Amino acid sequence: MIIVMKEKATREQIDAVCKRLVELGFKTHPIFGQEKTVIGAIGDKKALSSEAIINLQGVEKIVPIMKPYKLVSKELKDTPTIVRVGGVPVGGHGVVVMAGPCAVENEEQLLIAAKAVKAAGAKILRGGAFKPRTSPYSFQGLEEEGLKLLARVRDEVGLPFVTEVVDTREVSTVADYADAIQIGARNMQNFCLLKEAGATGKPILLKRGLSATVEEWLMAAEYILDSGNSNVILCERGIRTFETASRFTLDLSAVAIVRENTHLPVIVDPSHATGNWRLVSPLAKAAIAAGADGLIIEVHPDPVRALCDGPQSLHPETFEYLMTDLDPVATAVGRTLT
Ligand code: PEP
Ligand code: MN
Repeated sequence: MIIVMKEKATREQIDAVCKRLVELGFKTHPIFGQEKTVIGAIGDKKALSSEAIINLQGVEKIVPIMKPYKLVSKELKDTPTIVRVGGVPVGGHGVVVMAGPCAVENEEQLLIAAKAVKAAGAKILRGGAFKPRTSPYSFQGLEEEGLKLLARVRDEVGLPFVTEVVDTREVSTVADYADAIQIGARNMQNFCLLKEAGATGKPILLKRGLSATVEEWLMAAEYILDSGNSNVILCERGIRTFETASRFTLDLSAVAIVRENTHLPVIVDPSHATGNWRLVSPLAKAAIAAGADGLIIEVHPDPVRALCDGPQSLHPETFEYLMTDLDPVATAVGRTLT
């Protein structure tokens, strides 16, 4: 439910409405707009008699939120949320590129990758220290040592970083180092992990599950907002379909749907979606044309020798060409590559 306050409603009136809602068992999420304040009230509608709130001073109207997701919905907040990752804004007018290796392998590999992606214009570094691998025999990541390398390289190169957490037991360790925490596709509906990661207050990069509907994905985001953290970046990374020509099928319609229905920024991962470095560039361009607020791209100094996801990783030089190509696409859709 949304409580729309009158234009001239005072802070005291807003606080009084929130207080009454809490007494009635609701969680409140006031959003202070330019002209009006609205209060998102999440709870059991039945606890609300029509007079309980509408007659309070300063209340203009009560509007139900029709979608199953509430806090992420544009019905509640129609201005775009801008999430800051170590000072870099994600969402709004700019288009931001995050790039780096799939997995942190050693300091040299990470440093070369970070310097290269920064020189080409990426604003955020990516790199996995805890890797969710399909096979238990594949490289599982350097764990905390990888986080330390990411932090060292961030300080040396000057790029904030995003890295994945796969287990609730590691959330606080990852949060100690990272500028943003990634929840991977395979954990999108790990609700304990969503709540725990959300509670850190860090920006959360929430990847869409391999077989999740858009609604399930947004409900997962709702868990994080419900934990009190509205710094969520959605990431479309391809879904399972009958098609086997690419690793997954990039669902660009999801980008447009998400933009229509939520205020959260949405980025695209063409690397995992395609599994093939040759397809990364065309789909990266398509993603920006479709309205993505950014991209997350795997770049490795020596893709052939990568311990993880080499076939989809761009060589730094290819990444540089791609960055040059992205600029006019962003301009064509009225955006700027930040
Ligand atoms: C990754 O970004 O390294 C990753 C494992 O992605 P996803 O969860 O989308 O497969
Ligand atoms: Mn990967």
